Amino acid sequence: MSRVEIKTSCTRDCPNTCGLVATVADGRLVKLAGDPCHPLTKGVACHKTAKYIHRVYSPERIVHPMLKEGGRWRQASWDEVFDLIADRLKITVAESGPEAILYYQGNGERTALKLLNKYFFNLMGGVTTMRGSLCGGAGQGAQELDLGKRISHDPLDHGNSRSIILWARNPVSTNISLVPLVRTIKKRGGTVIVIDPVRSRSAALGDRHIAPTPGGDGYLAMAAAKLILAAGAEDREFLFTYSVGFEAYQAILNRFSVEELCSLAGVSVMDATFLADTLVREKPTATLLGWGVHRYEHAHYSIRPIDALGALSGNIGVAGGGVSQGFEEYAPYDQTYWGDELNPPRRTFLHPKLGEEILGATNPPIRMIYVTSGNPVCMAPHSCKVRQAFGRAEFMVYSGHFMDDTASLADVFLPATTFLEENDIVAGYGHNFVGAVNQVIPPVGECLSEFHMFHALAERFPFAGRFQRPVDAWLQDICAPLWAQGTSLEAVREGAFRMDAPMVPYADKTFPTESGKFQFMTEFDPMEQIVSDRRYPYKLLTIAPHSFICSERTMAEHSALPSVTMHAQEAERNGVQDGMVVSVSSSVGEVRARLKVDASMRRDVVIAERGGWAKAGHGLNQLTRDIPSLVGQGTPFYDTSVAIGPVYEKSARILVVRERDLSPEGTFCKELERQGAMLVTLRPDGGDPLPETLSDFDGLVVFGGPEQIQNGCSKGYLDPLMRLMRECDAAGKPVAGIRHGCHLLALAHGGSVKALDEPEFGFSQPRRTELGRVDSVVGGTGPVPELMGYHCDSFDLPSGASLLMEGASGDKQCFKVGQCSYGFEFHPGADSSIVMHWIELFRQDESIREGRFRMRYDDAFFEALMTRLPLLLADSEAFCRHMVQKWLESVVSV
Ligand code: SF4
Repeated sequence: MSRVEIKTSCTRDCPNTCGLVATVADGRLVKLAGDPCHPLTKGVACHKTAKYIHRVYSPERIVHPMLKEGGRWRQASWDEVFDLIADRLKITVAESGPEAILYYQGNGERTALKLLNKYFFNLMGGVTTMRGSLCGGAGQGAQELDLGKRISHDPLDHGNSRSIILWARNPVSTNISLVPLVRTIKKRGGTVIVIDPVRSRSAALGDRHIAPTPGGDGYLAMAAAKLILAAGAEDREFLFTYSVGFEAYQAILNRFSVEELCSLAGVSVMDATFLADTLVREKPTATLLGWGVHRYEHAHYSIRPIDALGALSGNIGVAGGGVSQGFEEYAPYDQTYWGDELNPPRRTFLHPKLGEEILGATNPPIRMIYVTSGNPVCMAPHSCKVRQAFGRAEFMVYSGHFMDDTASLADVFLPATTFLEENDIVAGYGHNFVGAVNQVIPPVGECLSEFHMFHALAERFPFAGRFQRPVDAWLQDICAPLWAQGTSLEAVREGAFRMDAPMVPYADKTFPTESGKFQFMTEFDPMEQIVSDRRYPYKLLTIAPHSFICSERTMAEHSALPSVTMHAQEAERNGVQDGMVVSVSSSVGEVRARLKVDASMRRDVVIAERGGWAKAGHGLNQLTRDIPSLVGQGTPFYDTSVAIGPVYEKSARILVVRERDLSPEGTFCKELERQGAMLVTLRPDGGDPLPETLSDFDGLVVFGGPEQIQNGCSKGYLDPLMRLMRECDAAGKPVAGIRHGCHLLALAHGGSVKALDEPEFGFSQPRRTELGRVDSVVGGTGPVPELMGYHCDSFDLPSGASLLMEGASGDKQCFKVGQCSYGFEFHPGADSSIVMHWIELFRQDESIREGRFRMRYDDAFFEALMTRLPLLLADSEAFCRHMVQKWLESVVSV
């Protein structure tokens, strides 16, 4: 077995931009870990890194070019899709001008070669592009007002800090290389303060966690400033020599008492005092702003007072101090390669108002959308409007990895390589190092890097000669500013290079502002912030997930519903309880979620993790409004006011009986939950006793059970279970028997089960019988998609049962018996994790049982199956979700 280790850099949307070591065995990536030689990563990358291997090889990943025709996807050749895209680009430009095309360049990857994506569109004549930010725009904008240019302390400078304030930053989940730096300060006896309305995982790092009201951070900073001034502990030299506007800022402070400010911030005076004391007594103090503090319309009213606090406490321009927000990830490149100078200025749309901008565009309207490295239909605010806007475009191209909310709307899916399959250079927004992206494995399937995609497209345009050059030739030119700093492409490929950036910005106390000095905020109108709507009393804080980067997930990885957390007493006040399906509504939308209660959190917030897809029942941006921040054109995600309420007066209670890991519930039960059902799952093979009666339940779902149960099998709980199935039906309560549960249902009603001569595995397309076409659960007139089956047995119908679906060879796929009992021979819950689990069993298990399958299904069968799997799953899941909804309606209507 060949085994090699290759150094590379992570390019995901994460401030760490870690150096990584990838281990490749026989051409396959088997391990991904932090590079011990990287000065910041120091061998420790986040837990999401190891998981990324599964993402690279995920069965849901689209690895062939796809075209949508008649609403259905089909595989296509690269030439076919490039020809089509080039034609559509040319036609649109000829008929409506280049601005009728929107190029949406997401932040999923921000590497050197990504400059060329926009360069391509600029060579084409310039198209509509985006401005503003879905993330830190407000923070950057506010800091530019105070400091002239946002420049952060090098993270290695925190080694000089005696104390540190993590202000809305959660490094444990989103900035892992910061954690050891924070711990070192603590070990030295320094103080760590975590300020965040949410008690994040990083709160445990702190000596004190201060939880201000959302958007109230500025008041806290002002309160601490007043306390420092009252103690006469301000840095008078800085104030009077290196700053302007202090008197005006002091006048703002004088409009409030400390108590008033703390009350407005929603914190105690003790909290503000602790903060002020730390800043004065444990200098230098590093203040690190997180991305949460930016997510407000008036974010500048928080960030500017925090900057001011740093300034008047004497922490600006000193080693170990500073108020650091982030780094410019495109700084090391020659920006002319965006190509913006090639055309007169072209139209741009505001990121925070994406849907509105597209819908409102005239002269020309948007006819074509091209998306790379982003999932705006999920991640942009007011996502229903974004969906509507994207749906209105005549033609849409999506380059990415998975069939997410945005990709689902596209006409062409371009399967892109991950950073592990390409060569590039990357800088980050969390530090000053540049690293090489070194190809670790060959592209999976037919995936292409966006670099190669745009080269192939350029071939179809007259400017091909200006665009088509090898990767290294482009990197040499784009990164010329880096080489001027004394490194080379070869050297960066060997190890990370620290750019020429200050360890301690503004150390000479000069600032690139108009005055050349630090500029205090001189205007403050808190009344602007007070917009309360009593119908929506809680702020929804959609925080960064701990286990995912933004919307990087698969369908199978989604829980049935997003989880929202609120204070226990607020839950009670709203008539909802822990575990309930609740409605989360705002002025622009409504989403269902599973409620968690927490008695230790703030009472004015509801907390959820962002990034879940709407098509998987999540999509919290259906609730957020599309307004820009007043400074910096950021997106005020956290200015989303919501109400929480019950969805159902009474949820259907469904008993789910399953056996063994071979019969997981998958999509079937997720959909039941999304529709509001309360599920109680029992594993009788694991010792769970079955109930005597089903009087506490409204329906019964039986998965699995032993194979080859055959007629007359009397394994322990099977007879009582079949009795429950009969009694449930007799009481008019619906039953679903799935796979072996289908066989049990047949047996329970007097049918019989028999072993098949040949085992069945894979997707096949059943058809509805005449009775099936008019059935309330599986009925319909269109074709049934291919559905997943895996079994060694079949069954004879019980007397009086109706066959609803059958396979091509006449095999029974679905029947109805009694009043409302359905047997499904296929697995209506099969998702990618279930199918892959079964495939792995075949590949690894040498037992006689699986051996029978292996004799029938060889490697070529599985390879062909894997090629088609993403689309097979998408079609079958959509069909089965609809079917589950109909089955549940029969429960509710009983
Ligand atoms: S996601 Fe972030 S922390 Fe994790 S490996 Fe990538 S850069 Fe590092």
